Amino acid sequence: MPLIQNIVKNVLPALAISDEALPALIEREYTENTLIICDPYNYPEFGRYVRKALVTSCSQNVIKEIVRTYSYDKILAVGGCTVLDIARACAGHAALICFPTILSTTCISCNRSKIQFTNGYRLIKTKQPLKTIISIPYLLQSKEEDLIKWTQSGFGDLFANISASIDLQYQQRDLEIHKIRGNVIESFKALDWVVDAFNGYDEKCLKTLARYLHHSSIEVIKRNNTKLSSGSEHLLYHTIIKKNRPAVSATHGQIVGIGTLITAKVFSTLTGDDTLFDSLKESFHQLQLPANFGQLRQIGIGKDAIIESLQAIPAKSGILGDYFSNASSFDILDSIFGI
Ligand SMILES: [Zn+2]
Repeated sequence: MPLIQNIVKNVLPALAISDEALPALIEREYTENTLIICDPYNYPEFGRYVRKALVTSCSQNVIKEIVRTYSYDKILAVGGCTVLDIARACAGHAALICFPTILSTTCISCNRSKIQFTNGYRLIKTKQPLKTIISIPYLLQSKEEDLIKWTQSGFGDLFANISASIDLQYQQRDLEIHKIRGNVIESFKALDWVVDAFNGYDEKCLKTLARYLHHSSIEVIKRNNTKLSSGSEHLLYHTIIKKNRPAVSATHGQIVGIGTLITAKVFSTLTGDDTLFDSLKESFHQLQLPANFGQLRQIGIGKDAIIESLQAIPAKSGILGDYFSNASSFDILDSIFGI
């Protein structure tokens, strides 16, 4: 194998999906100069480990505090997105191993962190993990409603790759479906899997989703940008968060999913091809992701809020900005979210 391929292969994070309990997996990776970064849910479990930092926000100050307080050559990040964001930002030259405790976004193995600075949130490039280790027993032990909520969010964020690909092709003025599919082939495979084979939030589902989320992270590292994981649907997410008050229980993937469905319907309108929209809508139905006005109201997002947020997306920022900055009516929303 040529050297360059070896180098590329070696630097990409590995994924281990394990049937072992989380404490045993952590024990194996813990060494003398290791720092554990975790969230309040997992903090009590690590009583015996002296070197641990508790993280409850992704503020820049948390990073400064950890870097100032501890010396370490290895970080074990155990928790959800906030913990992983902070750990990636603190890692520097230290080895980083991530133990995601929920599968709620596509960022489980990536090299980007959403950090809160004094002037707002920014996505910055940070350290990628050497390895991402997922304990299936840990995921399965969570309350069923939590397991569904977070796993559903992971699928919602994964399918944003599909709308981001539509957006990218839209901006290149080439909406050929095979190109949209080719950009994010694994996300389309995940969509097909949900439509054809999803049978509830069981072990098979968790293992399948973990592989797709990891793959999505790897693609961000390889491409060195987030254009195929964050398009207009994420712009809509940000305007919804800014202008409205989604329910506290509303997840990232649920809210991003609104923009994914709208983007897919705009694609239908521009091309006359409803197939992709229909598949996405069917997958949302199977996954119980909010896909009609009634379900969206339950997560605190009414039709007016969607319209107001769509209007707030800047023109020329992508497919949704262009389509809705000139829209005289928002009837298209009824064909997406009407029963
Ligand atoms: Zn996202």
